Amino acid sequence: MSQATSSSLQHHQTALLQVQGLSRAFGGVQAVSNVSFDVHAGQMLALIGPNGAGKSTCFNLINGQLKPDHGRVLLHGRRVDGLAPRRIWRHGVGRTFQIPALFLSMTVCENVQLALASWHGRNWRLWRPLRSQFKEEALALLSRVDMAAQANRPCAELAYGDIKRVELAVALAGEPRLLLMDEPTAGMAREERHALMSLTRKLTRENQLGVLFTEHSLDVVFAHADQIVVLASGEVIARGQPHEVAASTEVQRVYLGGFRLEPR
Ligand code: ADP
Ligand code: MG
Repeated sequence: MSQATSSSLQHHQTALLQVQGLSRAFGGVQAVSNVSFDVHAGQMLALIGPNGAGKSTCFNLINGQLKPDHGRVLLHGRRVDGLAPRRIWRHGVGRTFQIPALFLSMTVCENVQLALASWHGRNWRLWRPLRSQFKEEALALLSRVDMAAQANRPCAELAYGDIKRVELAVALAGEPRLLLMDEPTAGMAREERHALMSLTRKLTRENQLGVLFTEHSLDVVFAHADQIVVLASGEVIARGQPHEVAASTEVQRVYLGGFRLEPR
């Protein structure tokens, strides 16, 4: 496509994340097949679908853990598919992990200081003299996730919901523009789930982040997502705002079963 044609087709504002025709097979299994969607700044997009639908594979194609067979991933209009995970992180893609990846023997504050040191290119081996560095920045990040009061506690002592909030602070240390959260509320109680996603929404709005998340709890999805993309067997079978997706008969048949959308 020529330069002129491609720019004339652009929307008034290029999406933060553009996923275009993404495909990836493992042997004979087409895990992700021609998947396209956009995430805009300030928006939370939920990728949902049954087990094996291709959600985690999509995430890993976006964060660089996997390379696509076909298709493109663009951040602010710049191609990043095929780059190494660390380079994609440098382009502003942060992530939280399904199994939290904090250092449990260290304090809450130290975990965030370490993340800041890593982001600012400091070496692991210099960690000791860095103990006092990035302290103010770490405390500022911790107040954004309402964890400043627990800054000096070892992470091993924290409740699960609090660990997830520290993980958010660790992800924010990399100044992400896009946050990828694969099943962020797995293992959490109902109120904890909604508290974490309300916090995520607040951060999304305040910082004009884009958030892409997968989630099994449909109450969380329908309460907190701005847009939903439904995958089944690697293909997009529905997309739209929560009320549109809930009304799709295809989604009802393939995935939602008896679930009924409740008003926010
Ligand atoms: P979801 O996260 O929606 O549960 P996945 O993306 O993990 O789905 O998996 C999609 C499909 O790809 C499944 O059939 C799964 O078995 C297969 N798959 C995922 N990762 C691998 C892999 N590394 N090697 C082989 N098959 C894989
Ligand atoms: Mg998965």
